[in-house]
Amino acid sequence: MFELPECVTLTRQMNEALTGKTIQRGMLGNSPHKFVWYNCSHEQFERLTHGKVVGAAYAKGKWMFVPLEPGYLLVLGECGGKVLYHPAGAKPPERYHLWLTFDDGSALTVTTQMWGAMELFEAGKEQERQYVKGMRPTPLDPQFTFAYFSGLIDSLLSGEKRSVKGLLTQDQLIPGLGNAIAQDILFRARLHPRRPLAELTPEQRRRLYDAILETVGQVIAEGGRYDEVDLHSHAGGYVRLMDAKAAGKPCPVCGTPIEKQAYLGGACYFCPECQKA
Ligand SMILES: [Zn+2]
Repeated sequence: MFELPECVTLTRQMNEALTGKTIQRGMLGNSPHKFVWYNCSHEQFERLTHGKVVGAAYAKGKWMFVPLEPGYLLVLGECGGKVLYHPAGAKPPERYHLWLTFDDGSALTVTTQMWGAMELFEAGKEQERQYVKGMRPTPLDPQFTFAYFSGLIDSLLSGEKRSVKGLLTQDQLIPGLGNAIAQDILFRARLHPRRPLAELTPEQRRRLYDAILETVGQVIAEGGRYDEVDLHSHAGGYVRLMDAKAAGKPCPVCGTPIEKQAYLGGACYFCPECQKA
């Protein structure tokens, strides 16, 4: 699944490859998929996208927003899979869930293996969509200060007991983070995934905050994770520290074998020595 760094990478590349191009034809998928969410019919999509010009795309959380001017916005949200650019003459994939062809013969396709929203909105109306509406600050927003982050933790201390992994992966508390990047954030912060939020010391809160910014920044700088591909079908440059390949191998810091544990809807990989707390 794309997380914030992959969405940032893809929208940056869309701006290099697509901005200013005119859509000749827009099509929704030729491959029915229960978990692709559309908000218009094939006919509407084709009619509304025809002749539109691609504006400057941007990412927020796990959502990508692509202006189709005048007046519309293509929204790709909570997606996994492939968002690919095809230069004129290149052969697009046989299966796709969205396809835009441009007047210069190039194309953009989106194909998901898991799920994802592929929706077209009148510009501005996307703000009313569930998950976009009221989205909390993401680690790239100026509002995501340490004071904000610490306040967010305070607000979660009453009620349901959450762990640090829960803070990073549940309920879009920190939009854009997911199970993949959370593993490396916790490793850098030297925190056990099950550590209750209520037990974090002020110093651990600070370490966690710093680890979020450092990890997000590094994955973006390296063009996304190595287990996802970018707009040009190249794997990202960021090699994850803690993932299935690391399980059982020595920790890069202390040499203890990395453990795998199922927890909160997905496996956790962590060093039992460095991430004791
Ligand atoms: Zn270790």
